[in-house]
Amino acid sequence: MAGVYLSYPFCAQKCTYCNFASGVFPADVEARYVETLKAEISRHAWEWKPETLYLGGGTPGNMPAGVLRGLLETIPGRPWLEATIEAAPGSITPERARLWADCGINRVSLGAQSFVDKEIGRTGRKHTAEVVAREIMVLQAAGLGNINIDLIAGLSGQTAASWRESLDWIERLGPPHVSVYMLEVDFDSRLGSEILLGGKRYGAAQTPNEDKVAAFYETAVERLAGMGIERYEISNFARPGFESRHNLKYWKLEPYVGFGADAHSFDGRTRMANPESVEEYNAGLAAPERVPARVDEERFFVGLRLMEGVRPTPDERRRFKEPIRRFREAGLLETKNGVLRLTDRGVLLSNEVFQDFLDL
Ligand code: SF4
Repeated sequence: MAGVYLSYPFCAQKCTYCNFASGVFPADVEARYVETLKAEISRHAWEWKPETLYLGGGTPGNMPAGVLRGLLETIPGRPWLEATIEAAPGSITPERARLWADCGINRVSLGAQSFVDKEIGRTGRKHTAEVVAREIMVLQAAGLGNINIDLIAGLSGQTAASWRESLDWIERLGPPHVSVYMLEVDFDSRLGSEILLGGKRYGAAQTPNEDKVAAFYETAVERLAGMGIERYEISNFARPGFESRHNLKYWKLEPYVGFGADAHSFDGRTRMANPESVEEYNAGLAAPERVPARVDEERFFVGLRLMEGVRPTPDERRRFKEPIRRFREAGLLETKNGVLRLTDRGVLLSNEVFQDFLDL
């Protein structure tokens, strides 16, 4: 059973750490995008019903009621097993929560990133911890208790104490799912560029170094486990039964179809990507492009992202014999009953591990 991803790359502001193809656009560009998106969905040969639906972006939570209703009416399969909408804290009202529930949404992912005002302020977001707490109650009252909260380790001004404060809030709020990302430092975000090139505008000089970020992550793993929220993927933690069904499809290489700018699709063999920019997508000139995929290798190391690990095929066992031996000796991989998985240390160095497999 495949999943559907809808991309809505529109935001109220561009957060300093964000390296997604999202941003602030004029209203007419957004309106045109909605029409292009509807047209793309209607062109799809719906001979199947999606099991999961994921509205990401961007901030699809900000979609006006009529737009959201109109879009979701074009997707068959309601009630979906899991239908997630990404939302920005500070934007959730009882009306909005009721609308989402009414449209078949049954999971909300909140981009809180931090519960410490100073850190939140530096990202360009405007919510406070109290706002997130209040909005979680609003969601629960609308029957939307299946909530994910995103946290980022590595934000400007973050310290061991402030990280603990964010985790204390998680404990108080008790969401069934938490995602913990380590700040990605690259030229695609303003904070990332400033860390790489220097500058004072986004607080790069006050970002914790790599070792501290790794320590924050380890603290989160421990604290969340203590709350019964267990890591099931490198960045994702859930109470039993609340793992994201949609995202599991990515890690298990199950099929999904993506609509919208920068959306990807995968049918089990071939990966396709829509044009990345809103302008190109709206112009409708660029067709989806085939993304070179080495599905067999991907199955192996994308599977390694999951804490349950991966069972290498005899061929993979032969091909990857040398790095598997090396990483086991280094304590980064472990094998149990024929299943290979990253150790706690291996998770922290997972980029290096994956790169090594990819370079083979
Ligand atoms: S983090 Fe989310 S809300 Fe902020 S710019 Fe990126 S996509 Fe938009």
